[in-house]
Amino acid sequence: MALIVQKYGGTSMGSIERIREVARRVARYAKEGHRLVVVPSAMAGETNRLIGLAKELTSDPNPRELDVIASTGEQVSIGLLSIALQQLGLKARSYTGFQVRILTDDAHTKARILSIDDANIRRDLDAGHVVVVAGFQGIDESGNITTLGRGGSDTTGVALAAALKADECQIYTDVDGVYTTDPRIEPAARRLAKITFEEMLELASLGSKVLQIRSVEFAGKYKVNLRVLSSFTDVNSTDMGTLITFEEEDMEQAIISGIAFNRDEAKISVLGVPDKPGIAFAILSPIAEANIDVDMIIQNASIEGLTDFSFTVHRNEYKRAMEILQSKVKPGIGAKGIVGDDRIAKVSLVGIGMRTHAGIASKMFGALAREGVNIQMISTSEIRISVIVDQAQVDAAVQATHTAFDLDADEIEAVVYGGTGR
Ligand code: ADP
Ligand code: ASP
Ligand code: MG
Repeated sequence: MALIVQKYGGTSMGSIERIREVARRVARYAKEGHRLVVVPSAMAGETNRLIGLAKELTSDPNPRELDVIASTGEQVSIGLLSIALQQLGLKARSYTGFQVRILTDDAHTKARILSIDDANIRRDLDAGHVVVVAGFQGIDESGNITTLGRGGSDTTGVALAAALKADECQIYTDVDGVYTTDPRIEPAARRLAKITFEEMLELASLGSKVLQIRSVEFAGKYKVNLRVLSSFTDVNSTDMGTLITFEEEDMEQAIISGIAFNRDEAKISVLGVPDKPGIAFAILSPIAEANIDVDMIIQNASIEGLTDFSFTVHRNEYKRAMEILQSKVKPGIGAKGIVGDDRIAKVSLVGIGMRTHAGIASKMFGALAREGVNIQMISTSEIRISVIVDQAQVDAAVQATHTAFDLDADEIEAVVYGGTGR
């Protein structure tokens, strides 16, 4: 008998019939004697709809109120799922994030979990209940409702598994595991039976939406046994999806594990700045003060004492970053101009085998060149190569790289259900 946390995403909870299916799967595990905590997301499309309502009032809604609104999607889900479980004869009780007491910081719309009070959950589990906890939401110290960022129900699931020292955390979604890349973009993507925690962290941070980055961070910190699997297989299926593993050495390690992409970036270049000490600081410190995260940074070699300085930011923060540069930075440093492009994307190749293999970057660049994809920026780490390309060329770049590294499956068998969930 194990304690299992199961998280179900938006598509998995997308209709009353889907919710019944989720309940059937939970019931199967309960009948096998396991103790269960279930974390549903909002029904597919619901979070987008709720945020859209607020944005009808203003393009820049107050973040505290946005959290009040966006968190309601999950509250509906826990009630519905609990009723569906009760209809199957199970004892079930729902909790919002605030009722559990999932304490977070006060960074509205992207709050971090600080602690979880598991007393209610443990009491109900001991009394034989399935405990249904809302994903995505928490409460800050002053009692304000917070949310954990898009995709945050993954993090609720893993954080609960960590707090409860669960035997396993199962993330049920609309694909049957982690693939070499998003199977919606590359149908020849191959499912991985296992992936190392480190690689999963890298893929998630580079844009693979299958797991929210913070959920992977939690799994790493607390050594949570984490699996990604499909809620669309037969309820009695024994398919175990993809295991996120900590045992790097034991694995027969492929050089490349996967390709991630991120369409949410924008590029900014400050042109013709004097090449002297303090310039990077003068450009980036007002950006940092405005709480805008910077991703890739490139400074060109200087010509006649002048250089160009480029960096990327999240697309949502592009306008604000441009304004800050125009008003606060450009006059001070005497830059010739500021140009930006918010129609770019980042494509990244990830694999811990890169540490010990040469020529990976040139192979990737060759594949992109043959496809006619222009590389605008490059950045690398020990286990990753990222390039910035035109947004219109993302699919081609992913597919060309996938093929070049022999990641294509012999037979196309990716199973993708439903829409994009949100
Ligand atoms: P959920 O609503 O269940 O949380 P998400 O839409 O957040 O689902 O995440 C699942 C989606 O992640 C898949 O439908 C797929 O399109 C996408 N995805 C991106 N990269 C990968 C990958 N490497 N492997 C599997 N799925 C991926
Ligand atoms: N419902 C939230 C979202 O759409 C959280 C989640 O699905 O994980 O981002
Ligand atoms: Mg998700």
